[in-house]
Amino acid sequence: INFLRGLPKVELHAHLNGSLSIESIKELAEKVYGQQSEEFAEMCERFISFEKGANLNDCFQKFAFVHELTSTPQGLDYATQLAIRDFARDNVMYLELRTTPKSNGNMTRRAYLETVISAIKRGTKQHEINVKLLPSINRSEPVAVAEETVALATEIAQNEPDIVVGIDFSGNPNQGKFSEFAPVLETARKHGFKLAIHCAEIDNPVEIREMLKFGMSRCGHGTYLGNSGFAHMKQYNIPIECCLTSNVKSGTVSSFGSHHLKQLLLADAPKVLCTDDCGVFDTTLSDEFLLATETFGLTQSQCIDLIIEAVQHSFATPEEKLKMKMQVYAYTRRQ
Ligand code: 5GP
Repeated sequence: INFLRGLPKVELHAHLNGSLSIESIKELAEKVYGQQSEEFAEMCERFISFEKGANLNDCFQKFAFVHELTSTPQGLDYATQLAIRDFARDNVMYLELRTTPKSNGNMTRRAYLETVISAIKRGTKQHEINVKLLPSINRSEPVAVAEETVALATEIAQNEPDIVVGIDFSGNPNQGKFSEFAPVLETARKHGFKLAIHCAEIDNPVEIREMLKFGMSRCGHGTYLGNSGFAHMKQYNIPIECCLTSNVKSGTVSSFGSHHLKQLLLADAPKVLCTDDCGVFDTTLSDEFLLATETFGLTQSQCIDLIIEAVQHSFATPEEKLKMKMQVYAYTRRQ
């Protein structure tokens, strides 16, 4: 584990509001509510019950908790900084954060994105980490919201081309129709954004076919792609973002041993190891590597290969990719 913790890593699938560790959520609550407040005391109580063996419903409630805490610009700013700090502490050298811009009485979607970007800029100065942003489209919201998100991302990316590099398509896979979002995703692609699409998270063959035909730069989860889907991904060099703990804890995969990472390794198909929501699922990227090592017998050199593969599939520039590879090789030489 020490080798894995020290290894400079690449995180390509992390939802901002799911990525705060329990400790960081408490820190955020203290900041937002104040340590003496009733709200803070209540929040701690709710978290103590989580720590005593939470079930999945409890885990998902954490999104709602964090959304409460990030519903103001101050809370969102602090949450983004904490998430970046948590990844940097785990020696993640490159992070692609995704998040759904939300509008409420405190913030517009534009202000939401601007707040996250400003926190990213400060976070990358404070920690040794390069951070990109993928604004998310939540498929359970109306298409008009997705259109607003893509329009904002396009406008903001003109000033921040090094930060806003792609669009994520996520949200509850049982809600919303991919075909209705395809035109807005196509617009995003035409504007130069890379697309990271949650695909085949549940068994929906019609939608899976539509998504494969549409194409994507990376595929989130890919649990129900099956052998022909995996062959397609290999043919088109589209990596599957594998999130072991998330998939098992959310019940889309029955056990670590039966995770499709095994098939991807055997087929030598493109894959990247990711956390998804390291706070909600109580994991870290190092833990995910350890889990893959223990479950599938990966060697240290296979772990390094996985990181280099993630570098290749990141939305970083060629110069940034070269720098990351050099960082990994420098670390392995020191071991
Ligand atoms: P946020 O976008 O608020 O920063 O991060 C939390 C959101 O990401 C959730 O409300 C949900 O829309 C999306 N999300 C987080 N984890 C998953 C996942 O495993 N699958 C899908 N489809 N969406 C997710």
